[in-house]
Amino acid sequence: MSPSGPDVIKQIRSQIDEVDPAEVQRQAANGAVLVDVRETEEFEAGHIPGAKHVPRGYLESRIETAVPDRDAHVILYCASGQRSALAAHTLQELLGYRNVESMTGGITLWKDRGYDVDVPRTLSREQRERYSRHLLVPEVGVEGQQKLLDAKVLLLGAGGLGSPAALYLAAAGVGTLGIVDNDEVDLSNLQRQVVHTTDRIGVPKVDSAEETVTAINPDVKVVKYPVRLDASNIMETIEGYDVVVDGLDNFPTRYLLNDASVRLRIPVVSAAILGFDGQLSVFAPYEGPCYRCLFREPPPAELAPSCGANGVLGVLPGVMGLLQATEAIKLIIGQGDPLIGRLLLYDALGATFTTVKVNRDPECPICSRDPDSISDEEMGVFPDYEAFCAAAG
Ligand SMILES: [Zn+2]
Repeated sequence: MSPSGPDVIKQIRSQIDEVDPAEVQRQAANGAVLVDVRETEEFEAGHIPGAKHVPRGYLESRIETAVPDRDAHVILYCASGQRSALAAHTLQELLGYRNVESMTGGITLWKDRGYDVDVPRTLSREQRERYSRHLLVPEVGVEGQQKLLDAKVLLLGAGGLGSPAALYLAAAGVGTLGIVDNDEVDLSNLQRQVVHTTDRIGVPKVDSAEETVTAINPDVKVVKYPVRLDASNIMETIEGYDVVVDGLDNFPTRYLLNDASVRLRIPVVSAAILGFDGQLSVFAPYEGPCYRCLFREPPPAELAPSCGANGVLGVLPGVMGLLQATEAIKLIIGQGDPLIGRLLLYDALGATFTTVKVNRDPECPICSRDPDSISDEEMGVFPDYEAFCAAAG
């Protein structure tokens, strides 16, 4: 009578060496080669970091490419330890590998023990096409595109700066776009706030922006905050975002944002515009200066451009907002030299860009200190806003 399948497996397991996941972890750190013998779908759903993939069905034909050295210490694993035991037997008995083990319990036990698992991600066919021009750029590629899809960017304001930034960050595939704005679309906005349209006058800007963004790219999740930022809500609003794109139009909130972002160590891409002039910088807490390092005190109220309506060439926030989007993307994919410790000045009439080096202030009231020591009460300490603007006349 022929032996049963379970009997054969039992016999084979007695002829090979089996090793516990804890020992596998130690051996992997010592240079053992891990080989995952499961099917492709199983491997793609999650595998041990650094493991090579040789499905059991291709073991004989592919193992030499994956592990050319027959004296190498090879540890095979599968889902439960059975397929890898059979594969270990094949390597040892038929292919002449001299130092082969099979991991007991497979990746199931490995996961139960709480050890690391790599879940490789792939772009869908549609995403490969949508982002094909990113994939062709070595600095972005699949890896950078996945970083963008995983990224959370918060836009403060869906106005002149926030509009172009929203359009291009959405097109680039930034996975989550938070938008803070408590205003409604007004006819006078449309000269520059290109995320909105004439038929949406009177609609909340966050809703209008969401409509445009999702029409451009359904990959983007929009999180709407139809609120005015103040000391009571800023921490909970910005927490969890990777980058803040600051399109704020007033100094008090800008100081508040600075203090909160330093506390939470979130980089802020900041821009300001007036007339034909724009300026831009990246404030990366503790890496470069913060906003208060540059502007310790707000400007005199009569010079502050934040209290009433100011003229601006409509295209200027477009230029500056896109430079913000560019810096945000560089921070996310970790490429290039971000504008940290530098202030970029754009003079549209003169058609000049000037970069000024800016340093951290060792006496800065905020970023010279341990972030945990900054209290709620100290954040955004600034003259009363209404009084500030009243003084401006
Ligand atoms: Zn500072």
